[in-house]
This record gives sequence, structure tokens and C-alpha cells, in this order.
Amino acid sequence: EAYIDAIEGANGALNAYVCITPDKARAMAKASDEKIAGGEAGALEGIPLGIKDLYATQGVHTQSASHILDGFEPRYESTVTANLWADGAVMLGKLNMDEFAMGSSNETSYYGPVKNPWRKTGSTVDLVPGGSSGGSAAAVAAHLCAGATATDTGGSIRQPAALTGTVGIKPTYGRCSRWGIAAFASSLDQAGPISRDVRDAAIMLTSMASTDAKDTTSVDRPVPDYEAAVGRSVRGLKIGIPKEYRVEGMPGEIETLWQQGIDWLKDAGAQIVDVSLPHTRYALPAYYIVAPAEASSNLARYDGVRYGLRVPGSNIAEMYENTRAEGFGREVKRRIMIGTYVLSAGYYDAYYLRAQKVRTLIKRDFETVYADGIDALLTPATPSAAFGIGDEEMNSDPVKMYLNDIFTVTVNMAGLPGIAVPAGLSGDGLPLGLQLIGRPFDEETLFAVGSVIE
Ligand code: GLN
Repeated sequence: EAYIDAIEGANGALNAYVCITPDKARAMAKASDEKIAGGEAGALEGIPLGIKDLYATQGVHTQSASHILDGFEPRYESTVTANLWADGAVMLGKLNMDEFAMGSSNETSYYGPVKNPWRKTGSTVDLVPGGSSGGSAAAVAAHLCAGATATDTGGSIRQPAALTGTVGIKPTYGRCSRWGIAAFASSLDQAGPISRDVRDAAIMLTSMASTDAKDTTSVDRPVPDYEAAVGRSVRGLKIGIPKEYRVEGMPGEIETLWQQGIDWLKDAGAQIVDVSLPHTRYALPAYYIVAPAEASSNLARYDGVRYGLRVPGSNIAEMYENTRAEGFGREVKRRIMIGTYVLSAGYYDAYYLRAQKVRTLIKRDFETVYADGIDALLTPATPSAAFGIGDEEMNSDPVKMYLNDIFTVTVNMAGLPGIAVPAGLSGDGLPLGLQLIGRPFDEETLFAVGSVIE
């Protein structure tokens, strides 16, 4: 009831939820009460969560924050949310996001932007919470849920977590099932939690992760008890500092934060090693070829026939065109156009195939440092603190907006786990985060090291 009251009080201002499900929450909480009374509580029994609108929730609003899915209520439940409910979690509602998870500021949502609960000291200017999981991050930061699900294709868990002072982990590709999560770029998409601290993220991920016959890219390996790794000693661990992440124009306070993180880890007994990931600077351009290419294919299914919006036309082709013209927003259309262009017969080799080769080189960079005994890498999570809603510079040129993902996309390109943890405040009082990148399926080290930093 406290969370429902908090949502009703604050959501008008923050726009974090696109749909609130109080009746469902009360029914689920009641069932949890009975389980607790009967001595059979699950790991998340009675814990109220918010769910990113990208996740299919049976009989409940699921629109990926897009006009094209108007009125869609799936008949099935995503595997990740089904896992959470099976462990006793309670659903508060669906969270705002960038349309189809395309964006870094939550400004591409059909439902309008989400406001970051944080403001600069003494300022009344509203800031973005980051994206695409901006609703998840804002809701967790403002106590409108105890934790939230999110997804990360190029940084959408870690970047909003960093900009709102919350924790977000993108697990290794394949750790969580993608079944029932609207596909953006299938080879990059991963589910993960946004939470108030590292321990909560560990508890949530243990529940969310699973092997799933319905997603053949989910891996068949046991899910560790991630919570056990929280607070584990980091003495003797080798932490790599990739020099290529010291990008030009990086604000001084991000440099300082990074150094602070290095000092904390040294004090905790970790060994700091300078490393090189030479292909880092190609990651962002390659990502913005691979991700739109896959998106253009995945989004072909929204045609006005099967679900959501249908805008009539004089024949079926016109109906497709009218529906897609009206149903998709500007950024989604831009991605579809880039994607179809780089996949087209004349340009496939020059763009898509090249980007895939670059992807392999990026992956090898990481394999090399891990083969040298590095346990995890420490980098900034974002190149700056939160910026203003409607920021002219960011919105005047899509490439400027894409630069927000400079530290996060490599992790998706290589399929690795990455966590963002709050590490301090900017000079004007905004949260800043650091990122840890791990070895494949070694989320445990990220939880151990992350708990030293937070
Ligand atoms: N900001 C990136 C993009 O717009 C990443 C989005 C995501 O991770 N879903 O593609």
C-alpha cells in the first residue's frame, strides 16, 4: 500500500509508470501473506517490483512505449517475469522507456519523457533519467518500487542506473531468457535488474536468470546464488584499467571519479593493471550498424495485422504503410531506415559485414586481457552526468545522443556482463556511476567488486 500511495503521489510528476496495477498488486501481496504464514516464502516473497514495458505481462498493458502496440495485452508472460512471480514478487505496474528501447534519455517514448528524480543543487530544471530503461531507474531512485526489471542492448540498464544513483547489471548474453521481451537487436539484448544497491541486484538476478527451452540462446548452466558474492573479498583480484576509455573531452569530474574508484579497489587489496582494448573506438559506429540492422528485421512484425494499431488503407500494402507511418516514432523510423540500408544488397558487405568483423575484433580485445589474468575492468559508466530534458545539443544531432553509450556498447558487442554502481556526486550534486566489466558468466566478481565501490 505504501508503494501504491507513493506511485499515485509522484507519478504525475515523474511519468515513470505507464500503467499501474494496484488490484493485481494487492492480490499478489495477499497470496504472499498466505505463503509467508504457511512458512513457504519464496526468495522475493511480497517484494513489489516495477516491470519495464518491453516485457510481456499476461493480460496487462504491454506496448514497449510505442503507439503501434496500442491496446496490446499479451496472452503470455515473459520468462523473466514468470521467474520473479514464481519467487513471490509482486507487480506494481509497467514502466516507461524509450520506444522499443531505442534511446539514451527516455525522450523517444510515446508516453512522453520520464523525469529524473534528481536535480542539480539549487536548480529547478528537469533532467533525463537516461534510457532506455529510464522509467525503471527513476522509479527505483524515487522509491516507487523496491526494484525493477530493465533491458540492455547497448547500455540501457547501466546508463540510466548511473544517471539516477541506482545499481544496474547487464548479465552475460544468454544468462536470462529473452522469451517474451520485445526484440530490439536479438544478438545484443539482455534482461537485468535495476535496484537500490548491489545486494538487491544480486538477489533479483538470481531469480531472473534461467535456462529456457523457449530461448535457444539462453545458456544451460546452473544459476549461482549471486547474493553470496556480495561483500566477498577482492584481495588479489586483478582489475584492468583500459586506457582507450580515457576519451577526449571527458569532464574532469569523471576522471576524478574513476581515480577514486581505482583508489578504493587498491585499498581493498585489488591489484590495478593498465590494459589496452585497441578496437574500442570502433565499437560505437559498429553498434549503430548492427543494432539498427537487427531492429529493422525484428520490427517488421508490427504491420497492423497481428497486434496493436491498425490504420486502414485502400489495400493491404497501404494499410501496412499507414500503420507503420503513424505507429512508429521518429527514432524508431530512423533505426529502421539505417537498418534496411546497411542490409541492402549493395551495401551489406561495406557496412553490415564490416561491422560484424569489427565486433569480432572487439570481442578478441577482451579475450586477450582476460587471458592475461585480468578478473574485471573498471571504467566510467557514462561520459557525463544527467542532462536536461529537451537538451538542444543532444537532440539536434542523433550522433550526439548516441555518444552517451560510448562506455557501454562494447560490453554488448562482446556479450559480456557489466554492472553500473553509484560512486559519487558531480560538482552540482548529480549522481555519477562507475562500470565494472566481467569475464563471461562471472557476474559474481562484479557483485563482489561492486559492493566495494557503492
Ligand atoms: N542507447 C542505445 C540505443 O539507443 C542502447 C539502447 C538499449 O540498450 N536498449 O540503441
